Amino acid sequence: MNRLYFDWNASAPLREEAARTIRDIERYVGNPSSVHTEGRKLRELLESYRKRFADALEAGGGRVVFTSGATEGNHLAIFGLARSALKQSRVKQIILGSIEHPAVDAPVQMLESFGWKAVRVDPESSGVVDPVKFLSAARGASVASLMLANNEVGSIQPVREIATNCNIPLHTDATQALGKIPFSFEKLGADVATFSSHKVGGPRGVGAMIVKDISSLSPVLAGGSQEFGLRSGTENVPGIAGFVVATELAVQHLADATARWNTLNPLLRDLLIQQFPGARFTVSVAQALPNTVSVQLPGVDGRALVVALDLMGVACSVGSACASGSVVPSKVLLSLGLNSSDARSTVRLSMGPNQTREDVVELVRRLGSAVENLHAR
Ligand code: PMP
Repeated sequence: MNRLYFDWNASAPLREEAARTIRDIERYVGNPSSVHTEGRKLRELLESYRKRFADALEAGGGRVVFTSGATEGNHLAIFGLARSALKQSRVKQIILGSIEHPAVDAPVQMLESFGWKAVRVDPESSGVVDPVKFLSAARGASVASLMLANNEVGSIQPVREIATNCNIPLHTDATQALGKIPFSFEKLGADVATFSSHKVGGPRGVGAMIVKDISSLSPVLAGGSQEFGLRSGTENVPGIAGFVVATELAVQHLADATARWNTLNPLLRDLLIQQFPGARFTVSVAQALPNTVSVQLPGVDGRALVVALDLMGVACSVGSACASGSVVPSKVLLSLGLNSSDARSTVRLSMGPNQTREDVVELVRRLGSAVENLHAR
């Protein structure tokens, strides 16, 4: 049985061109900080990939800093902006969305343990944060963070509108937006944006951030002062190069992928409703990433369904996390106003740029059989 991969928001397969680039650059010996010919060659390569990444994402005057992923980038952004606020004797208050990824929420919780106050703004039931509410809460804070698109439900947040009207430094976790909707750092107007390579078909364990003003951040990892002193550690040049190549391809082919998703997404929703008349979509097509469908199937246990689907050759995710053996309903879904039983019945189906109509039809067919089997038990 062929496997159907509908979990691209968790991780995208490595693109062949990225794999080739990594293999090619891995042959180079040396450390990009060394002064000899070998080191200088790697430095030159690194800087050329930095420039290509900045061009692909329209960084404008912003600097690209490479990291080990969005988890690290988010920590660097949150702690960096917080330390900068402290240096300027500003209030110890941060505002963020209540549906941020744990890689943002956890460093904010650490700030809270150091005496910071965190204000978490809930999204509306649409999955989208009201910019007026966010901005009014931002007035009493010194740092703001709002993701560009949510990983679980796909809702796209009004970061551009908020950035235009926000007078405190704004970080956006753009991990899920990259390669799924157009991205221009210059036009977005945020002060810091963070990304992860494996979400666009680059290697795992690599990431980047674009920073408007390098001096607004302080390092989390100190040592050899690489990456403008913001992120010490010998740079993973092959991984960075693979990431940049994957990003360029994702950006170049975004229009084609979007056209495909714009057909497949409504098709998937229609087929789901035909198969499960009680199904409800967590976020509407208009407000979600075009590749993401979060669906509630009342009466179905999402986690059991994902396991059953795996056995039937389908990879997808639940909208709830498993903690110490018991299923805890997803915080994101509860923040959107779902009750715990609807939250438990939610599954996330996320598509890639080459997904086909046949994949979608077959996915819903297998979903139908899986739910039938679960009910027959
Ligand atoms: N932010 C968001 C929105 C994500 O979806 C993810 C990955 N699930 C991360 C941050 C963390 O990325 P990484 O695991 O690559 O550090």
